[in-house]
Amino acid sequence: MSVLIDGKGFAATLRARVAGHVSGLGVVPGLAVVLVGDDPASAVYVRNKGIQTREAGMNSFEHRLPADTSESALLGLIHRLNADPAVHGILVQLPLPAHLNADLVINAIDPAKDVDGFHILNVGRLGTGQKAMVPCTPLGCLMLLRDRLGSLAGLDAVVIGRSNIVGKPMAQLLLAESCTVTIAHSRTRNLPDVCRRADILVAAVGRPEMVKADWIKPGATVIDVGINRITRDGKSRLVGDVDFAGAAQIAGAITPVPGGVGPMTIACLLANTLTACCRAHHLPEPEGLTA
Ligand code: NAD
Repeated sequence: MSVLIDGKGFAATLRARVAGHVSGLGVVPGLAVVLVGDDPASAVYVRNKGIQTREAGMNSFEHRLPADTSESALLGLIHRLNADPAVHGILVQLPLPAHLNADLVINAIDPAKDVDGFHILNVGRLGTGQKAMVPCTPLGCLMLLRDRLGSLAGLDAVVIGRSNIVGKPMAQLLLAESCTVTIAHSRTRNLPDVCRRADILVAAVGRPEMVKADWIKPGATVIDVGINRITRDGKSRLVGDVDFAGAAQIAGAITPVPGGVGPMTIACLLANTLTACCRAHHLPEPEGLTA
């Protein structure tokens, strides 16, 4: 039976560390979250982000805009937040309504305040090994992997999924750790065989329990990013992209869903906001909060 990687506990410790640094910082970090429209899942995420930001001793500025907000109005708000010295981090909750160009909006954020790490400059910096704001979910996965494995150098890593939010930055981070990285995706041939090579397997697909036990190399470390709601035995529940019950018999260590990667994402958002604040005020950056 695998070791269970306790993302929930790790995230709680990380949030407490962030709060500890914030209390002695001499300046209050501020995170602005922009929500356009009334997508219920996004509203829940934004509310949780606000609660955890305040719990960490930071200021939370929430901007809720109607679904028919124009691009120029949204860009105007972002320019104001860029110029506001009380705001150190800006997050635009995705997805945006279809009439808004997400790339244009994200790239309007000051890269120094881009705590999601989605601005093209931060993507480029990450890819070229320069100091970047690192996307929160892959950063959380990396922290869990380092905690579990120490050095990742030389390990074979397979990332399933090539999204800009998870798969690609995850692969960049693992490459920077000197892993031999394979990115698998919907057009990959012989996916089970590709996965069986992995010392580290990261699943970021969005397909419930797709990764089966016999795709996993015995002893591998499995990071399940997927969050899928299914109905089983008449009950609604969350499952990952990995068949947890089977995989836990084979893997060396595995993240559960829920309670694995999920809680790390907001904890890393808080860490990124603290990092952005330290950089803005030329304060020393606390160790271990970024890649
Ligand atoms: P996405 O839809 O943007 O990307 C999914 C990727 O999976 C694509 O690159 C696609 O090529 C690949 N894929 C699809 N079907 C496949 C198949 N049959 N075989 C192999 N690859 C396949 O999704 P995303 O935004 O990267 O999110 C992925 C999952 O992670 C979702 O379940 C999402 O809810 C979850 N997620 C969790 C967190 C968190 O905080 N834990 C954060 C972001 C996303």
